[in-house]
Amino acid sequence: MFTLSEHPHRRFNPLTNEWILVSPHRAKRPWQGEVAGTPPETRPAYDPTCYLCPGNARAGGNVNPPYTGTFVFDNDFPALLPDTPTDEPTDHPLFRVQGERGICRVICFSPRHDLTLAQMETPDIRRVVDTWAEQTLDLGGRDFIRYVQIFENRGEMMGASNPHPHGQIWSTMRLPREIDKELTAQHDYFNAHGVTLLGDYLAEERRRAERLVYANEHWTVLVPFWAVWPFETLLISNRAVPSLPALDDAERDALADALHQITVRYDNVFRTSFPYSMGFHQAPTDGAQHPYWHLHAHFYPPLLRSATVKKHMVGYEMLGTPQRDITAEQAADRLRQQSAVHYTRA
Ligand code: ZN
Repeated sequence: MFTLSEHPHRRFNPLTNEWILVSPHRAKRPWQGEVAGTPPETRPAYDPTCYLCPGNARAGGNVNPPYTGTFVFDNDFPALLPDTPTDEPTDHPLFRVQGERGICRVICFSPRHDLTLAQMETPDIRRVVDTWAEQTLDLGGRDFIRYVQIFENRGEMMGASNPHPHGQIWSTMRLPREIDKELTAQHDYFNAHGVTLLGDYLAEERRRAERLVYANEHWTVLVPFWAVWPFETLLISNRAVPSLPALDDAERDALADALHQITVRYDNVFRTSFPYSMGFHQAPTDGAQHPYWHLHAHFYPPLLRSATVKKHMVGYEMLGTPQRDITAEQAADRLRQQSAVHYTRA
């Protein structure tokens, strides 16, 4: 008899049309729960050398205002520029090039240098949600911007250059690769079934109740069936809305609550400031309607067994297929068991 918790198997990701390999028998060893964790970071509330703190100077001579909530500015070292030529200067079909235009911004989540999303109060996270929605409208409203990617790299391990709580927005003329994949999958599913892929998926996950981590009235946090990162989660809006600006007041409060819940639990798993890359996947901003697109966020954390043992995508994963040992069900269990009170306050 085949069991998901025993036998090596492949799982299908219907959002990207890709398979992942699961090797549950390799995680059989008993959990050696690292209780020590790492001592809570002690950072000052204001750091005079931080280029994101209020009132401080940034590269290029800009000075941050004395902001008290969120603060958004154009990235001083942007990966994309709004005025790049968009030609396709291609002289051979195997050497294709496309000019790409875009606008990159930085969002400070809080004036407090010493906080993280996990340590911020929910009403303050709500202000971040509102800022994300405003930025989606502002950048998505430009005629050359077809996609607004909101994301956060948390922790040095994930390449965050500064511990000040902040995220980024890269908005582009063309759809990013992951969006392209999810668009095709969601579009085809909606055409075939008349409902959103994630709406159906959410209903089935609720019925099975094996991978749910947290739910409130408007948002659900779960470890997706096809998760590849050890404690990967998916945040799904219960109502099928295409993007952040479409969320009403109660749904925005609920999103702030869900973000608080999952980031606190992450920190509590290994009693450390849990690193991750997270981001929202919303509909393209090309002026068309996208009724098939169902707003969601992905958290991709690399920590595997402790505050220091990290998952790497190497070897077979680079050359073959992404693989995981801990099953989605085990990960959801561990996250669900965590306290909703941050370990530094418990
Ligand atoms: Zn997605």
